[in-house]
Amino acid sequence: MAPISKETDFLVIGGGSGGLGAARAASGRYGARAMIIEGKRLGGTCVNVGCVPKKVTFNAAAIAETIHHSKAYGFNVQETAPFDWATFKAKRDAYVKRLNGIYERNLANDKVEYVHGWAKLISPNQVEVTLEDGSKTVVSAKKILIAVGGYPSPPPAIPGAEYGTNSDGFFDIDKLPKKVALVGAGYIAVEFAGMFNALGVETHLFIRHDHFLRAFDPMIQEGVTKEYERLGVKLHKRSALTRVDKDATTGQLTIHYKEGDGEGVIGDVDHLIWAIGRKPATQGLGLEAAGVKTDEKGYIVVDEYQNTSVENIYALGDVTGRVELTPVAIAAGRKLAARLYGPEQFRTAKLDYENVPSVVFAHPEVGAIGLTEPQAIEKYGKENVKVYKSNFIAMYYAMMEPEQKAPTSYKLVCVGPEERVVGLHIMGLGSAEILQGFGVAIKMGATKADFDNCVAIHPTSAEELVTMR
Ligand SMILES: Cc1cc2nc3c(=O)[nH]c(=O)nc-3n(C[C@H](O)[C@H](O)[C@H](O)COP(=O)(O)OP(=O)(O)OC[C@H]3O[C@@H](n4cnc5c(N)ncnc54)[C@H](O)[C@@H]3O)c2cc1C
Repeated sequence: MAPISKETDFLVIGGGSGGLGAARAASGRYGARAMIIEGKRLGGTCVNVGCVPKKVTFNAAAIAETIHHSKAYGFNVQETAPFDWATFKAKRDAYVKRLNGIYERNLANDKVEYVHGWAKLISPNQVEVTLEDGSKTVVSAKKILIAVGGYPSPPPAIPGAEYGTNSDGFFDIDKLPKKVALVGAGYIAVEFAGMFNALGVETHLFIRHDHFLRAFDPMIQEGVTKEYERLGVKLHKRSALTRVDKDATTGQLTIHYKEGDGEGVIGDVDHLIWAIGRKPATQGLGLEAAGVKTDEKGYIVVDEYQNTSVENIYALGDVTGRVELTPVAIAAGRKLAARLYGPEQFRTAKLDYENVPSVVFAHPEVGAIGLTEPQAIEKYGKENVKVYKSNFIAMYYAMMEPEQKAPTSYKLVCVGPEERVVGLHIMGLGSAEILQGFGVAIKMGATKADFDNCVAIHPTSAEELVTMR
């Protein structure tokens, strides 16, 4: 490896979505001298233990569902086909590894100096880098970007909690389990539970309230929760784990829990997955040495331009705790690079965090942008909000038995006499793909009349969004 430069213009800590977006734009597009420091694998959470391997697994689950449905269309197939998880995992791991290599080559193409090591701030413009061999180097930088992301929240302090794993560990599971338990009501728990269930695994999901996906519109919370129950996910509502025991011989777990006013036990659990939120990865980063302020939850405090409390130190992505999604981190990184190193017209460039579309690869898929109905009512007053809803069975299910038919639900939340669409919530087949285009419309300030003026595409599910009464 070439010796590390002792100084640079733009030093980026963290080679994940945000850090890569910023470093590549700064150097590749605007010619700044940039360095990126990554302690684990390039691509960060998204590529290695997030979006990418998750979506590949979701695709496998979707294929299992399609095989199951295919009989209704006249195919003579084994409805629950055997699934070779080990082969699938090896291929998924190889794909991720390929991506790691592509990311490294992209950095080289954009002339970003890549250093594999752990970075720590030792002053407002100096970073100490610890390399794999334990040696340390100090690099001085005119500007520093902190894009270190987050990590899964540790489990609660109950006996045996440590026998469970987290979302990172989900990707290490090397054979198809028979029985799993997941704890959490956010999108990660819900996605994992849906995939396991679709792949024929007995799936227990423990949630604290009556519904999951509680940041979403009530239609989505209620609709997907009901659908998971219908699909056979064993949902433990108003529950909390109290103890976990591990069989020394088989490695299987016995889970003790409270549910409502009662108690319960499930045995022979192959994996317990805690998916109870994430925390910012700021420990040991030397934020105090540099004077970078954090909030009470440990997230780095930034303004709308990603400036921290210290001049020339910036932060973005999950470590700032605002809309924790890959495209948000990438977009914030590119905007920052443009503002710092781009031509004059980008001097005030910043990411608009309003109306960011987000999806959940649940069963069925979910898409949402803008305000939920309760948020719109709170912001604009009930009398100014008009809601359009549609519930139907997609044509895909027309050939199936009643018990195979999954619902589709759509909702438009409109405000004012002009009926500007301030929220769009969809649940059903293809919702993730459908949302992107509608996201453009909403970002442009589309009204209900604009939706109605777009001629429907038939026969699709999405046509319901432009024909709502
Ligand atoms: C299971 C799961 C599924 C997800 N699915 C989706 C999805 O479908 N769509 C979506 O948009 N988002 C998804 N996300 C969220 C997405 O992964 C994150 O929002 C995104 O990765 C954040 O990017 P980032 O650059 O802020 O941080 P990260 O991608 O986490 O990158 C931070 C990097 O910094 C490195 N690092 C940390 N400290 C140091 C240090 N001191 N020195 C050097 N390097 C350091 C880390 O090793 C890491 O590689 C998912 C997340 C999870 C956990």
